[in-house]
Amino acid sequence: MPEHLVHEHIDLTKGIIQQLSHPFFAGRDLSLHVLRLDLIHPVISGNKWFKLKNYIAEALKQQKKGILSFGGAWSNHILATAFACREAGLSSTGIIRGEEPPQLSHTLRDAARYGMELRFTGRASYSRHLQEWEQWQASWPDHLIVPEGGQGEAGVAGAATIGQLIPPGQYSHIACAAGTGTMMAGLIRSREPGQLVMGISALKIDPGNNSIADHIRRHTGEEPILFHDYHFGGYARINAELVQFMNDLYASCQLPTDIVYTGKLLYALFHLAAAGYFPKGGTILAIHSGGLQGNRSLKKDNLIF
Ligand SMILES: *Cc1c(COP(=O)(O)O)cnc(C)c1O
Repeated sequence: MPEHLVHEHIDLTKGIIQQLSHPFFAGRDLSLHVLRLDLIHPVISGNKWFKLKNYIAEALKQQKKGILSFGGAWSNHILATAFACREAGLSSTGIIRGEEPPQLSHTLRDAARYGMELRFTGRASYSRHLQEWEQWQASWPDHLIVPEGGQGEAGVAGAATIGQLIPPGQYSHIACAAGTGTMMAGLIRSREPGQLVMGISALKIDPGNNSIADHIRRHTGEEPILFHDYHFGGYARINAELVQFMNDLYASCQLPTDIVYTGKLLYALFHLAAAGYFPKGGTILAIHSGGLQGNRSLKKDNLIF
């Protein structure tokens, strides 16, 4: 499959590793580096390209007309799917959670501009989409149906290729944000022996129904190291402390983060380091999985970047 034709604009060499020269880590005999996947493409940013690329290839191989996928009003996955499909010469349909609002979010407006057909669906029927998979497929025979967030084996296998951008023998810990856990499952598959992969949940998880841990176990056979105390009240919830932290981090290290995933990931790493979680000499690589476009849901003057 001619991947270069599909995404000649994706530039993995831009996915540099930024060494955070923050006294907070050095003073604790720790180092924190960040893999900047947010820089590989202006629209298809972060982990979404990795999770999508096998689905795009599959749609082309099966000679589908397009891809149909699912997401919320600020979904990074929906936006990346719209753009990636356009570049691949595929049409795209987005099934959007909730009723159609009087005014579309910036994200959905952009997705529509990239040619995505948007269809709004009530929250209840949206949340059944995984169970009603066969109906979706039967109704859209000329589309490849991609689950929310690109979860599924093709997404995990794609996310595992993030490991190719991580230099060997350098890191004791790989840290990432977790939404569905697809990226984390891929990172677990591609890690080196002895390396710990840790995930910071962006969702408020019901302990009796840990969809992230289940997903990762199913795809890796391993028990994931997940932290559930850094969601700031739930998915996409924020408070003044988080925004202040993100602004301070940008001011001190020129690292922009997003309010849903990477801001909370970095906050957690500082918090865990302060609490003595990491052994001395620990070398931590945080995955910047992108998502900066979602910051447009904030009021303009909240963030300094
Ligand atoms: C989608 C997304 C995630 C979550 O990835 P999963 O594979 O669903 O866990 C993390 N960070 C960013 C910026 C994302 O857009």
